[in-house]
Amino acid sequence: MWSNGEILHYITTRDRGEEEALFAAARKVREEQYGLDVYFRGLIEFTNHCKNDCFYCGIRRSGPGVERYRLSPARILDCCRVGAGLGFKTFVLQGGEDPWFTDERLLGLVRAIRAEFPDHAITLSLGERSRESYRALFQAGANRYLLRHETANEAHYAALHPPETRLSERKRCLYTLREIGYQVGAGFMVGTPFQTPQCLLEDLRFLQELEPHMVGIGPFIPAAGTPFADQPPGDIHLTLRMVALTRLLLPRVLLPATTALGTLSGDGRERALMAGANVVMPNLSPREVRELYSLYDNKICTGDEAAECVRCMSLRVRASGFVPNLGARGDSLVPGAEGPGKAAAPGEGERAPARIAIPVP
Ligand code: SAH
Repeated sequence: MWSNGEILHYITTRDRGEEEALFAAARKVREEQYGLDVYFRGLIEFTNHCKNDCFYCGIRRSGPGVERYRLSPARILDCCRVGAGLGFKTFVLQGGEDPWFTDERLLGLVRAIRAEFPDHAITLSLGERSRESYRALFQAGANRYLLRHETANEAHYAALHPPETRLSERKRCLYTLREIGYQVGAGFMVGTPFQTPQCLLEDLRFLQELEPHMVGIGPFIPAAGTPFADQPPGDIHLTLRMVALTRLLLPRVLLPATTALGTLSGDGRERALMAGANVVMPNLSPREVRELYSLYDNKICTGDEAAECVRCMSLRVRASGFVPNLGARGDSLVPGAEGPGKAAAPGEGERAPARIAIPVP
């Protein structure tokens, strides 16, 4: 096991050689677990209405001048059809916490997608809901749920969110989702205001405890009109080191090369693949709403049609030495994610965290 001191050392190192060794070790573990495949998910950003007021988020409730939109269930289904036509086997429906999407409407939507695409993975990313709601959505056919914990440190969480939004509730949702049987994606931002190396250590320790199937890690990027509009963005090197550390501490998780990384740096996603990431999420949202789903400033890929996003991502993946695998569902190897044909081998537990090739301080 890595000690806290060892992890903190790699969180804070400024030694580029040491950093490269960390990335190489993460790459090796990813290749042992998943080979060179990079899985694709089609992202549908279906509403930017939100009842929450997270200080960092560009679509927060009190964000001034945010032009709000919401795709009808029929439009969302159309996006899925476009995605299926392009070869996607996974749809990710993400949005703000929009009260218009009641359980009744969401259940109708999920059932319709499930009926039309019996073999596709349906991933939801709709924020905090009740246990009953999560369970009903699972029974209607949803398989996966993405809900980043954002930060595992109580005081830090309180510095990023208004008092009505609580870390304990966020965690409760994550454990509930896991218990219901979803493949769960947690995750955090790197470089949010007030974050310390200790916070990042706590993020990793929390992830080890939760054992999610997927972990989304992206740099904080300031968003106009938010209380953090003038704060500096997260550091790309630190973000990549957190991706690599996550791969080393949780060898079997799925790790996306996030859009925020691509926004921070033109080759950010490629560099994430080189640091242990193995998932990309091209955008399937209709072009006219892309710009409006602005969680942060200067978000990339807002002008391209879905087909163009897929082509571009495939080229980027290949250029980085990996193999785009659009046609696989890409289920997680973390136990409890037994999708059709992708069951983890019986008795196969998590491998011990790799210590290979990295000089431990
Ligand atoms: N309402 C859903 C989806 C949130 S948006 C939910 O609560 O899960 C998806 C993710 O974008 C968030 O979890 C957050 O980690 C990230 N995000 C939001 N604002 C951001 C910003 N300014 N910079 C970088 N990432 C941001």
